Amino acid sequence: MSEDAEIGCPNGCIVKRSQLRVSHYYGPRRRARYRCPECHRQFSERCSSVFAGFHTDDATIYRVLKALCEGNGIRAAARIFDINRKTGERILDQAAVHCQKVSEKLIKNYHLKECQMDELWSFVKKRKRVYRC
Ligand SMILES: [Zn+2]
Repeated sequence: MSEDAEIGCPNGCIVKRSQLRVSHYYGPRRRARYRCPECHRQFSERCSSVFAGFHTDDATIYRVLKALCEGNGIRAAARIFDINRKTGERILDQAAVHCQKVSEKLIKNYHLKECQMDELWSFVKKRKRVYRC
C-alpha cells in the first residue's frame, strides 16, 4: 500500500497513511495501534480488515476462507483447522461484510449492458442424509 493511500479510522475520518503514527504495539504478535490525527482516537492495524477482532492468526483465517470458497461447510472447515464452529461462522460473516464494502467502493459507475457471473455454490442448510439399503 502506498504512503498516500487513504485509510479510514473507525470513527469515519479519512486520513492519508503517511499521516498515521504508531501509538504503540500490543499483544503477543506485536500488532500496531495507530492514533488518528483528526479525532485522536487509537485503532488497531487490523480494524478495517477481515482479520479484525479475531485471536486466530491471519494464515488460519485465510485458509478457512479458502476452504469455504471451495465448497466445504462451516463445520467441516472448523474441524479441519481446529477452530470453533462459531468462529468459522464469524469469519464467514465478517468476510461477507468486508467483500460487500469492497464491492461498493470499487464497483460503481460502470455502464454494463451484459454481465456474466462465474458459478459458485455451497450448501446453506445441512445436506439430507441419504439412506442406502
Ligand atoms: Zn479519526
